[in-house]
Amino acid sequence: MTQETLLAHGGRHPREHHGFVNPPVYHGSTVTFPDTATLLSGQQRYTYGRHGSPTMDGLKELLAALEGAETVVLCPSGLSAVTTAILAVVGAGGHILVTDSAYAPARQFCNTLAKSFGIETTYYDPTIGAGVEALIQPNTKAIYTETPGSLTFEMQDLDAIAAVARRRDLMVVTDNTWATPLYYKPLAHGADLSLMAGTKYVVGHSDALLGTVAAGPRAAAALKRVYTNLGLCVGPDDANLGLRGLRTLGVRLARHHESGLTVARWLQGRPEVAKVLHPALPDFPGHDLFARDFKGATGLFSFVTREAPLDAVKAMLDGLGLFGLGYSWGGFESLAIVSDPRKIRTATTWDEPGHLIRLHIGLEDPADLIADLEAGFDRFNAALR
Ligand SMILES: *Cc1c(COP(=O)(O)O)cnc(C)c1O
Repeated sequence: MTQETLLAHGGRHPREHHGFVNPPVYHGSTVTFPDTATLLSGQQRYTYGRHGSPTMDGLKELLAALEGAETVVLCPSGLSAVTTAILAVVGAGGHILVTDSAYAPARQFCNTLAKSFGIETTYYDPTIGAGVEALIQPNTKAIYTETPGSLTFEMQDLDAIAAVARRRDLMVVTDNTWATPLYYKPLAHGADLSLMAGTKYVVGHSDALLGTVAAGPRAAAALKRVYTNLGLCVGPDDANLGLRGLRTLGVRLARHHESGLTVARWLQGRPEVAKVLHPALPDFPGHDLFARDFKGATGLFSFVTREAPLDAVKAMLDGLGLFGLGYSWGGFESLAIVSDPRKIRTATTWDEPGHLIRLHIGLEDPADLIADLEAGFDRFNAALR
């Protein structure tokens, strides 16, 4: 079965549900047992709302098939997927190596709560590849990766990092929110845990928060233990929105890929733009890794403006009609933010003189998006005069 067909057919069993195409949305905490013997046996398939339902199982089953995972857990947000994955691989007295390009709140967790639990963090240059070995300490337990980084888009050589991790008996975690397992399968490239903010492309409609963590054989038991101990679960409606989103992930991502590249190439020709950070562009520094490992690109990328006062960027962004100003991404609609990577770097430096603008290219007609950006550049230029 190809991945596209799997998206349409995985995780549903109509004959178990009177023929209805989708699994029902079970709202429930309590699950009752027919008799005491069954209650004591631990053999009933569903025992309590937090421990699963046919709705959650449908989503988990489809995700496990897509990720090639032994186990999948569903978390209430992408950030809780990040923190659960980290706590599954490192505990008190342990040390974790974290890419300098990681999602900023993941760093915040490492620098504050994880630190207070006695977990030590060292940040590393995302492009270091096998060079990460030099940073391993006697108490290092895991390497955390995010490829590409979702603000500055550095590509990581996960195969090289995972080879080091195997040799040194460390776990590897990957935040795969950008590509989703449709375009990149971290577990097949040596990661032990592959996580996503399902909030982004899985849900795909900007109307729910969801996190997913998929484990290979080395990390499955630890993941389940931490997840259960933390008391995590997701509500039935959100699980259902995740499963519903996956059904159209293939067609949506194909469109995000095409439109994103169309806009990125157009930006490359603009005099206001110093650099476009998009892994699928042949001149992007990490493009060889992208071409080697990824089946496609999605709709999120950044560009750096030529040097200009922030007011010019404000003039550009504030007048955009089709791009909302907002965090998050992966929905059907286009978004823009301005961000300063300097504030979230410690192992590497960011010395672009211009401003970094991150775009999410949604499902609109790219010609309309380009016209919106073009008018934005007119405002940018007018503000310079
Ligand atoms: C958004 C995001 C998260 C966190 O997801 P939430 O659902 O917002 O908690 C984690 N990692 C990456 C790369 C993200 O973009």
